[in-house]
Amino acid sequence: MDFDAKRREMVDTQLRARDIVDPKVIKAMLEVPRHEFVPPELRDVAYGDFPLPIEEAQTISQPYIVALMTQELELKGEEKVLEVGTGSGYQAAIISRLAKTVYSMERIPRLAEEAEKNLKKLCYMNVNVIVGDGTLGLKKYAPYDAIIVTAACYKIPEALKSQLKDGGRLVIPVGDDWGQALVKITRSGKEFIDRKICDCAFVPLIGEDGWKEK
Ligand code: SAM
Repeated sequence: MDFDAKRREMVDTQLRARDIVDPKVIKAMLEVPRHEFVPPELRDVAYGDFPLPIEEAQTISQPYIVALMTQELELKGEEKVLEVGTGSGYQAAIISRLAKTVYSMERIPRLAEEAEKNLKKLCYMNVNVIVGDGTLGLKKYAPYDAIIVTAACYKIPEALKSQLKDGGRLVIPVGDDWGQALVKITRSGKEFIDRKICDCAFVPLIGEDGWKEK
């Protein structure tokens, strides 16, 4: 299968045809080999317009949602970014092309281990994968220019707001089990200005300041 051609088609029909206009985001989506982040038996459909299952009953998000969330982070190249929900590591790889350093947190050690191995193999050297509860953020390296959460919460964890720099952006799905709103929060001093981007559906953010494990 010609994965490069598939990736170009994905960018043209799913991203450019919608509202992905940031040339740096388009470039990253053209370069990062998504098929390397999905289970081997799903490689042929890696560039489809949908999320896919990965190990541990988790998912890799739809390409459009990955691009949209990345675009909303407004990255210029020098940022320190926190991702909560490493999953396959694909979103982290995309952000790594657009920022200086990425800290990516995953609560399931096996996923973190696999993602880290894969990211290193593919030479995404500015991504640091950390096992932990992302609802508490990652105080050690805070504050962050941008924070992206790729699992759904019912309320925005306070730690994430407090670990955002002044002027920083937080992109996060907020809602219930059935569906959420993708929200962008911009910090302005002590104020947090929020804007709904679109409707979405993510797996739950499980942790001390999130959903409890069922
Ligand atoms: N960004 C991922 C990718 O590119 O493949 C997709 C992430 S998947 C939709 C959501 C991930 O969030 C899952 O791997 C899940 O285990 C993780 N997760 C859920 N709650 C978490 C928490 N409190 N801290 C860190 N990771 C969490």
